This record gives sequence, C-alpha cells and structure tokens, in this order.
Amino acid sequence: MQQNDHTTQKVVILGAGFGGLSAAIELGRLKKRRRKQNSQFDLEIIVIDRNDFQLFTPDLYEIASAAKDITDEKKLKQAVCIDVRIGLGQESVGFLKAVIESVDPINKQVLTSKGEVDYDYLIVAPGSEPFYFGISGMAEHSIPFKWIQDAVTIRSTIQRLMEEKEQVHVIVCGAGPAGVELAAELRTMCERIMSRQCFGLTLVEGRGTVLPQFNERVQRAGYKRLRQLGIIVKSNFVITHAEEGKVISKTGETLTGDLIIWTGGVKASSLLEHSGVTLTPRGQIAVHNTLQSQQFPDVFVIGDAAECQVADGVYTPMTAHEAVHQGPVAARNVFHLLQRESLEAYHVKDEGFVITMGGKNGIVVLPGGKYIVKGVIGWFMRQYVDFRHFRTVLPFMKACTLWYSGMKMMSKNDPE
Ligand SMILES: Cc1cc2nc3c(=O)[nH]c(=O)nc-3n(C[C@H](O)[C@H](O)[C@H](O)COP(=O)(O)OP(=O)(O)OC[C@H]3O[C@@H](n4cnc5c(N)ncnc54)[C@H](O)[C@@H]3O)c2cc1C
Repeated sequence: MQQNDHTTQKVVILGAGFGGLSAAIELGRLKKRRRKQNSQFDLEIIVIDRNDFQLFTPDLYEIASAAKDITDEKKLKQAVCIDVRIGLGQESVGFLKAVIESVDPINKQVLTSKGEVDYDYLIVAPGSEPFYFGISGMAEHSIPFKWIQDAVTIRSTIQRLMEEKEQVHVIVCGAGPAGVELAAELRTMCERIMSRQCFGLTLVEGRGTVLPQFNERVQRAGYKRLRQLGIIVKSNFVITHAEEGKVISKTGETLTGDLIIWTGGVKASSLLEHSGVTLTPRGQIAVHNTLQSQQFPDVFVIGDAAECQVADGVYTPMTAHEAVHQGPVAARNVFHLLQRESLEAYHVKDEGFVITMGGKNGIVVLPGGKYIVKGVIGWFMRQYVDFRHFRTVLPFMKACTLWYSGMKMMSKNDPE
C-alpha cells in the first residue's frame, strides 16, 4: 500500500441511491479486507444524502396503486424505502443526512446544509429529476412520478376523485417502462378494488409505440396487455402544452382528464450545475470508461448523473441496473488510485429487463433482447430481482423482511 498510513484518506459519496449505496458498500468491504492485512490502514468513508432511505423506484407504482384499506402511510412508504443506515452500518460507513448544495472540485470540498465536508476522493451519484422537454404548463398541471411523495399524492388524488365524481379519467404521459407499469397497475387496482365503475385511463406517447426503447416483440406484447386492461393508448401524440386537466398535441388535438401524471422524462440532477464540473449538452458529467470525471481524476461519477460512452454515440442508459453495477467499479477504482494501480474499465452487463404489467403479470426481456417471457413468470422474476437488490444492500434477515412485507402489502390488489 502506497498510502501514507498517518494521513487517513477520505472518500465522500454524494447520494445514497442505487449508485451511491452500492459504491459505499463495496468501499466498506474493501476497507475491511485491507485492514485484515494491515491493521494500520484506515479510510474514512462518508455518504451524504438528504434522505436516510434509498427509494426503490422499480416498485414505486405499487405505492401509487396501493389498496385503499392500507391506511398506515408510514408502513406503505417503508415497503419501498430501504434504510441506508442499516446498509451502511454493516460495513462501518459513515452517513450524513444533509442537503448537498455545491461542490468545489478545486479545493476538494462539498458544501451541505450542515456545513463543509472535505474529501480526497469524491463519488458523485445524485441521480436525476423530472424533465418536461420545455412543454409549457406541464410542470404546473401534472404530478411527476419520481419520488415517494409523488406516488402517495397520486394515490390519494385518485381516491379523492373516485369519491367526488361519477366518472374519473386519468392521463399518464410517457409510455416508457415507468409509465406502462404505472398505467397497468392503476387499472388492475381499479378493477379489483373499486366497487363501482372503474376510472378511464389514457397512456400518451410522443413516439409511434409504447415501450419505444425495446424491440417490436416487447412493444407488441406490452400494447396487447394494455388494451386487455382497457387502457387507451395514444401514440404519436407529441404534447406541446398542458393546462389544468388538459394536454394538447402539436397537431392541436386535446385530451382531457381529471389527473395528469408525468412519466415522460428525466434529466440529471440540477445539483451538477453547482458541481464546478463542465456538463455535457445532456446535462451530465462526462466520464472515462473508468467512471472518472474527464476533468478531475479524483472525482468519479455514476448512475443517472454520468455520461458514460460505451460505443460511438451510445451512452449507458439511466437505469438502476447501470447505477448498481457502476457503484462497485467506482469504489474499486478509488482503491486502485490509493494503491497507485491501474484502473478498471466499466463494461455494460446485459442482464435483461422485467416490466410488470399489472397484477401478477409481466414481460421479461431476456439478455440480448431477442426473446421474451410473458405472464406470471414475469411477476416471479420481478420478485427475484427485487430480493436480489435488497440482499446486496441489507443483511439477510432484513432483506427477507423487507421483501416479504412489501410483497404481502402490494399483492393485495392483485387478482387471485
Ligand atoms: C418510477 C420509476 C421506476 C423506475 N424503474 C426502474 C426499473 O424497474 N429498473 C431500472 O433499472 N431502473 C428504474 N428506474 C430508474 C432508476 O430509478 C434510476 O436510474 C436510478 O435510481 C439511478 O440511480 P442513481 O444512483 O443515479 O440515483 P438515485 O437512485 O436517484 O439516487 C440519488 C440519491 O441522491 C440524493 N440526492 C440528490 N440530490 C441531492 C441533494 N442535493 N442533497 C442530498 N441528497 C441528494 C437523493 O435523495 C437520492 O437518494 C425507475 C425510475 C423511476 C422514477
């Protein structure tokens, strides 16, 4: 080890989401292993996040559509919020609950709502936020589908509307996986739980098909299932303007609804604008394949915040899957820098994708994207993927409890 053992090096990780937490856990493990070889070795690792939980976004649609008889909101939130202190505690990693305000990469300092934090190495993982592509009125007249409170608001708004009105119509904007999963689950919940007429649901997409990022087979299967559930699909509907209860397309067509939900896009966190690093035209930080910032070698960027080119003009997608694989690579590369070793390159791992389609139904896109599996197997696969993630960030029994309690609560809406 080349590190001077008298000066403890400090790694600060911004964000305890998919990327940040997986990086912190890997760093904690590396530190433990190193200390077994050399008891003098020390490394300070601190994770900073405004929340002390990691939001498990893949199951967020379950919160928006949770059964009416679940009245304990705290319990409901717990089903998708992973306690980061438990995850970090098992690896002796420090945690600071604070809002990150800016980064000064020249002086190696992070400014937070609780003061300044110095670092030797920084891993930036603040994720993303809703992006409206300049659609006038959309931010004001829709509920985004990004954070836990959005899901809770969607649920309570639908319940209130169903009590107040005879006929309710919901518009979901964006037919990527998040919009499709939400639309399918809302309709399933509605048919199973609501005693009177179910609310109408229109899924709007600017491109020519639902699930545009997948191949035709997946798109066809998705469309078929959405139609089966009674969802109206409006593709090639490029929204240019939104008003109270209305979305208007570039051809002048208007759709009206009682609730508009936006799942149409995200952009990298606006925190990056205060990071002292030059941003790419997509608002991310450009990284080498080692996930190291192209400008500051002691800064690593992962997850939705990173623009990581994997082929000519092809960048890693903004998914949890990428973030959890990038985290450990960034962690190992910090360690390599400490030891003055050459760095590891990040390689995209194709593990397929699962899209849930309402109730115990889903589409599994197998690695390579050529083959798909539909139906209840999709739901089982999703359960497995969820558990695998919980297990990587939590001790075994905690992971089992979280998975089981979430599954029990969320299956309440599902048809037998
Ligand atoms: C509804 C929905 C469903 C999704 N489903 C899937 C799916 O099924 N599969 C999949 O692969 N991906 C899915 N995604 C995408 C996935 O959630 C993101 O790609 C992933 O979260 C990115 O990980 P990250 O570590 O970059 O950011 P995040 O996981 O978002 O973590 C960022 C963290 O930084 C913290 N933070 C940000 N700014 C600040 C600040 N200023 N101060 C303090 N803390 C801050 C946040 O609190 C958060 O904890 C979904 C996204 C959504 C919205």
